[in-house]
Amino acid sequence: MSDVFQFLTLPRRDGTKTGAEIRRVQFKEIYAQMDADQAREQSGRCLACGNPYCEWKCPVHNYIPNWLKLVDEGRLFEAAELSHQTNSLPEVCGRVCPQDRLCEGDCTLNQGGFGAVTIGGIEKYITETAFAQGWRPDLSKVVATGRKIAIIGAGPAGLGCADVLARNGVKAVVYDRYPEIGGLLTFGIPEFKMEKDVMTRRREIFTGMGIEFRLNTEIGRDITMQQLMDDHDAVFMGMGTYTYMQAGIPGEDLPGVMPALPFLVSNINQRLGLPQDAAGFVDMKGLRVVVLGGGDTAMDCNRTSIRQDAASVTCAYRRDEANMPGSRREVANAREEGVQFLWNRQPVEIVGGDGKGGGKVEGIKLVTTELGAPDARGRRTPVVVAGSEEAIACDRVIVAFGFRPNPQPWFGDFGITTDPGGRVVTKGNRHSYQTANPKIFAGGDMVRGSDLVVTAVWEGREAAKGMLEFLGIW
Ligand code: FAD
Ligand code: SF4
Repeated sequence: MSDVFQFLTLPRRDGTKTGAEIRRVQFKEIYAQMDADQAREQSGRCLACGNPYCEWKCPVHNYIPNWLKLVDEGRLFEAAELSHQTNSLPEVCGRVCPQDRLCEGDCTLNQGGFGAVTIGGIEKYITETAFAQGWRPDLSKVVATGRKIAIIGAGPAGLGCADVLARNGVKAVVYDRYPEIGGLLTFGIPEFKMEKDVMTRRREIFTGMGIEFRLNTEIGRDITMQQLMDDHDAVFMGMGTYTYMQAGIPGEDLPGVMPALPFLVSNINQRLGLPQDAAGFVDMKGLRVVVLGGGDTAMDCNRTSIRQDAASVTCAYRRDEANMPGSRREVANAREEGVQFLWNRQPVEIVGGDGKGGGKVEGIKLVTTELGAPDARGRRTPVVVAGSEEAIACDRVIVAFGFRPNPQPWFGDFGITTDPGGRVVTKGNRHSYQTANPKIFAGGDMVRGSDLVVTAVWEGREAAKGMLEFLGIW
């Protein structure tokens, strides 16, 4: 071990704990519950290394070392103020960001193998504790501009946009077809990852900042885009991606095969006592479930099935564990809860309908893969190993292969252009995240493709800055 790394084993500035001692407790307990002592202990581990890689790797470029220092000094409200300067939903990102491949992955302590400062846990702690102690964003010095912007979608992108607009004196009116704000945070991500009252509280806080929400209102059905254009100075679209990617294999239409989101949403509706759609509540109790995919959505399906008392949950992914797109933390959680992972497995057929299962799924055929040459994006392509086919028995198959954009039929009427993948094009225009129609901006998943909460927040915030320039306010 080099001298530098020996030094890092004593990361706490006042020397109360070594990195190894802290590492033992940091993974589970601190994410679950962080108290003031733990927050200060972790914050005090920050080396304040002049080149904050964590800050660069964080998509919203949070001032991480600065708010860690404030927490270490017990200056909680200042930390909350600072954290809100760059992030519109810090308590959410602290919960759901894949920190292991973002801020914490690039923490110098982590690079040295001593366990990162638990940045996400502290970010959550700051906002949660400050809110509990009565802190609220202070907009008392904001001067109203008299301008008004419509936002379609109350997901992370729309909320990030509304936050920046409100802080700059612009009236933000947010429309969403759902009865609560949050987008996939509310109607997608399960409550064991993010408690649903977090968004209810956020709605109240944003409302207190002057943001107006018009929920249960779908643009294109309840209100036309033309009405929004007529009534507002500009429009931001943060409408997400809602076309399910399919496996494209025989048997995908069998009863018992389902896309991930309806399964997760039916579980959320059940938990919240909201009405179900025509398909009703999807219950995995006592069933053998196979989940296809390796992203966060797949992990949520795994862990939801476990919580519904499935007889077994098997997750098959076509690359190896090191190359899976989801958060390492979520895989560890799923594994610990009893999910069995089959890495390097690709589905080739879903079987059923021979009479025994009443026409339903009875099993799935998989082949083994090995990683071949990198594709255009640098990811190694899975190659099928000849003669490796295997079949496993199951009662339900959940396809969690991600989402593609769903361009709206009215886009063309307003000159909004999309790329061949259906993503709204915003590059090449004068202002950040401006579409081909100068009065319409867009961001989040519908622009970059399905990604993360924090990247959607960033794009919404950046689009708001573009809109402020467009309106001549900046
Ligand atoms: P969305 O969150 O999809 O919000 C779009 C909003 O627009 C929705 O509320 C929708 O109702 C509304 N809308 C759409 N069309 C209209 C219309 N015509 N009129 C009115 N309203 C409309 N990311 C992470 O960082 N960490 C995770 O752990 C994580 N887990 C995930 C788990 C699941 C199951 C899924 C599906 C995604 C997960 N993600 C995770 C990804 C993350 O949720 C998304 O990247 C993020 O929510 C995108 O934000 P957005 O604002 O672009 O879109
Ligand atoms: Fe880390 Fe996400 Fe917070 Fe940035 S927003 S500091 S990446 S948890």
